[in-house]
Amino acid sequence: MSAVRRPLKSLGQNFLVDRNIVDRIIAAADIRPDQPVLEIGPGRGALTEHLAERAGRLVLIEFDHALAAWHQEQRKDNRRVTVIDADVLKVDLDALLSESPPKWNVVANLPYNISTEVLFRLYGVHSRLARMTLMLQKEVGDRLAAPPDCSAYGVTTVLLGLWFDISRTFVVHPGSFHPSPKVDSAVLTFIPRSEPRADVGSEEVFRAVVKSAFSMRRKTLINCLKSAEFAKRIDCGELLEACAIDGRRRGETLALEEFAALSRWVTETVRAGTLRQNQQKSEIL
Ligand code: SAM
Repeated sequence: MSAVRRPLKSLGQNFLVDRNIVDRIIAAADIRPDQPVLEIGPGRGALTEHLAERAGRLVLIEFDHALAAWHQEQRKDNRRVTVIDADVLKVDLDALLSESPPKWNVVANLPYNISTEVLFRLYGVHSRLARMTLMLQKEVGDRLAAPPDCSAYGVTTVLLGLWFDISRTFVVHPGSFHPSPKVDSAVLTFIPRSEPRADVGSEEVFRAVVKSAFSMRRKTLINCLKSAEFAKRIDCGELLEACAIDGRRRGETLALEEFAALSRWVTETVRAGTLRQNQQKSEIL
């Protein structure tokens, strides 16, 4: 049967084979019949079976065509389950999750090679989510909880920290998977916040500020900011002075509130500049 073909390393296929861990993930996921569930990478269905039993609606996204076809066949009589044979990184998640009005519960044992990219995408649809229960490489999970000024602190820590309350639910050892990965894993619970942890002005600007601050870890904050696209429209020296942040610091030493202050200032300054330009244009016309 296609579902028992050899696991593909290229697709991060480390299948859960530990019933106790499956039960603990399902309990942590708090599946409710009135909440649609999205499972990313159902694989051989270790979690899927339990999700299908409990969820009012279940959507599976699986990139391994043979496994996707197997799920389609297995669940052809269950109209509550939809299988999407696709790369989750190419699926328009916002469009998918907007189909159904209630907020979604996401459950996944993520393929480790793309887990950070998937996290960014899920961050992009935070307003459509009720909860996420994700298995990640333990190191990636540690990064999400890292404080400023340590090597694990990075873009994911700051961006996801803005919109989610994140807690590590439990650690999973390699022996719970087939084949066994080389490292420990962790199951994390993400609860989206109704309000962001800080006022950042424009979220697009916030993302740009955070990404630029971490873009060159050895360089000073001011040099990192100067290389960003938004620096063409603002004075980075003025920005740092207005926010009372020393430009000689490294980006990784900034707390979320400091990133938020930078982002608010850039948002307001760019908006004011655009307004001025529009006014000047209308005076000329
Ligand atoms: N959920 C199963 C379990 O717990 O045993 C499988 C987890 S396995 C770590 C990751 C799964 O994600 C695999 O089934 C793999 O084929 C699938 N996958 C890998 N890359 C993917 C992608 N880009 N989009 C969707 N699924 C993907």
